[in-house]
Amino acid sequence: MADEALIVLENVNKWFGPLHVLQDVDLSVARGEVVVVIGPSGSGKSTLCRAINRLEPIDSGTITFDGRPLPAEGRALARLRSEVGMVFQSFNLFAHKTILQNVMLGPVKVRKEKPAAVRERAMALLDRVGIASQAEKFPAQLSGGQQQRVAIARALAMQPKALLFDEPTSALDPEMVGEVLDVMTSLARDGMTMVVVTHEMGFARHAANRVVFMADGQLVEQASPEEFFANPKSERARDFLSKIL
Ligand code: ADP
Ligand code: MG
Repeated sequence: MADEALIVLENVNKWFGPLHVLQDVDLSVARGEVVVVIGPSGSGKSTLCRAINRLEPIDSGTITFDGRPLPAEGRALARLRSEVGMVFQSFNLFAHKTILQNVMLGPVKVRKEKPAAVRERAMALLDRVGIASQAEKFPAQLSGGQQQRVAIARALAMQPKALLFDEPTSALDPEMVGEVLDVMTSLARDGMTMVVVTHEMGFARHAANRVVFMADGQLVEQASPEEFFANPKSERARDFLSKIL
């Protein structure tokens, strides 16, 4: 399994001032694996995600992506960011660009790819997330669920090796959560490597290969969803599950 690892965190520590937000975190994500990260608010889940594409530098330990330590700056960092797509709670689409332009922007502006080829790929991705008919509209004309699906298409347009999702459905009205989770489930089935922070336990049960439970900056336990939900080992995980299930 070791040579199949795409994302490897070893002994990672991160402080915000006196706050030790990541404490000796070890985590390895294999190619094609879907890891769901759960845990109470403030436990360090977002910081973990942000550390993986170096939106947040770490203070000690190592993170490697696809066999290389995370680059700190320059072109190598730009390449890392395009190889590790990120989907946030807030969709962050450009309001004054159309849906299609939003999806095309990264490959055209950052990667200098030819617009004609990117357009074709972008339309195929919009079709894949079920939004092709909305391509010429602006973000505000779409529902939250549709906008989040566009954000996923935008991340995919960079042809990432992995996707990180940080509570992608937390800002959505309940009736729109399912359509976004369906897209994510389909990506998972297609073999995309994914790290997903979510409170959607149904998604964790059905789509995750592994569930990781974090609390107070520590990776407290990790197991298959079957094992984790049936038999959480730590008191903190049992307590957390009793509150959300
Ligand atoms: P989670 O995503 O699990 O809710 P976060 O990773 O966002 O947790 O935050 C972990 C801890 O770090 C929290 O106590 C949070 O308040 C703190 N924190 C997050 N970002 C910053 C920051 N930029 N500066 C200071 N503290 C931060
Ligand atoms: Mg968070």
